[in-house]
Amino acid sequence: MTFKDLGIIEPILKALSEKGYTHPTPIQEQSIPILLRNKDLMGCAQTGTGKTAAFAIPIIQHIANSQKNNRNNKIKALIVTPTRELAIQIADNFTIYGKHTGIRNTVIFGGVKQGKQTQALQRGVDILVATPGRLLDLMQQGYINLGSIEYFVLDEADQMLDMGFIHDIKKILAKLPSKRQSLFFSATMPSSIVELSRKILGDFDTVTVKPEQATAEKVEQAVYFVSKKAKIKLLVYILETQNIKSTLVFSRTKHGANKIVKLLDRDGIKAAAIHGNKSQTARQKALENFKKGIITVLVATDIAARGIDIDELALVVNYDLPNIPETYVHRIGRTGRAKASGIAISFCNQEERAYLRDIQKLINQKIPVITEHPFINVHDDSSEESSSQNNRNRSRSGNSSNRNKNRNRNQKNRRNSNSRDRK
Ligand code: AMP
Repeated sequence: MTFKDLGIIEPILKALSEKGYTHPTPIQEQSIPILLRNKDLMGCAQTGTGKTAAFAIPIIQHIANSQKNNRNNKIKALIVTPTRELAIQIADNFTIYGKHTGIRNTVIFGGVKQGKQTQALQRGVDILVATPGRLLDLMQQGYINLGSIEYFVLDEADQMLDMGFIHDIKKILAKLPSKRQSLFFSATMPSSIVELSRKILGDFDTVTVKPEQATAEKVEQAVYFVSKKAKIKLLVYILETQNIKSTLVFSRTKHGANKIVKLLDRDGIKAAAIHGNKSQTARQKALENFKKGIITVLVATDIAARGIDIDELALVVNYDLPNIPETYVHRIGRTGRAKASGIAISFCNQEERAYLRDIQKLINQKIPVITEHPFINVHDDSSEESSSQNNRNRSRSGNSSNRNKNRNRNQKNRRNSNSRDRK
């Protein structure tokens, strides 16, 4: 199956070939024909599957065909997405795929001055990519009228709900014309999401791509057992010994991300953090420096990392294991994008063993354990005051009384984290 077989028009085919896409991904193969038939679509898929092109290509094609005889400045397509990074990335993709069609897009998001965004809107655009808050704001100020929207995409719907955007979404929906083509994408489909989709979609077809296993199979994974305190030393050790070009490190908290950057800096490793407390400019700058190779390590929290699209990300490090197993799959999906394969390693301390078990259950795989490294943890985190040097000198087998103590502690920790998970 090729893009040509899907009936894509020449100017888009040219752009895709320039971008180096030879074949459609499964979600593109399934969604594009439905969308070209003007049907609504419910897509169960996450970032990394190629879903942006799956909706962008048909939208560009529809608009390009209708503009042959009738060009105007009205906004015809609206894509709403939760994060600024994702919005920028989607708009970039529209620019790439539509570059030979003359179709114009712009992107609006909060956290920056609105001047440039309103100027672009006033010049006229066909496609608007937006985060909900700024969209409503500019609608209220009269810069945006949704009355001419023919194509509406709600992207990452589950994140939208998690981030508390539901009222914004409802306000936006109220301003959309009822005659339109609607697309709804979500990585998970809990009942709240299905309910929301009913408010948006008319007669729709469903496409599901289950990237969980596919991603997990594609990515080379490994786990290091290490105490909480020795994690930074292990990270420095790996970065220094393996000479990796680009590493994305995941931290559970914003504070943790800042701390990792500071400690790496102390060891002469250039890194930057991106998370919700950083300004948009700081986040963009960090991302650009990372893409250019000026910094080789980016430390991110889950929400901030969601939109990051880096073609050649060599390594993902789960500095903290996530307590939600699906998050692990999202994270490792940052490497091994589209057809590339990647490497993802996880640091697991005693408290995180239960998380590791849940992850292995979800991906239906046992993640190989790296048994040879200088910071093998034989003691749990309650004895972390011991230095890493001590850790290094301890043999992994330890003595039997230590082993028993550890076993008891492990069981206790597991019970604690299980009960925490249930809360
Ligand atoms: P997305 O899920 O839209 O974020 O896309 C994930 C990554 O796959 C992005 O880096 C895209 O540029 C890339 N991609 C999308 N479609 C294709 C394709 N047909 N062939 C190769 N790469 C693709």
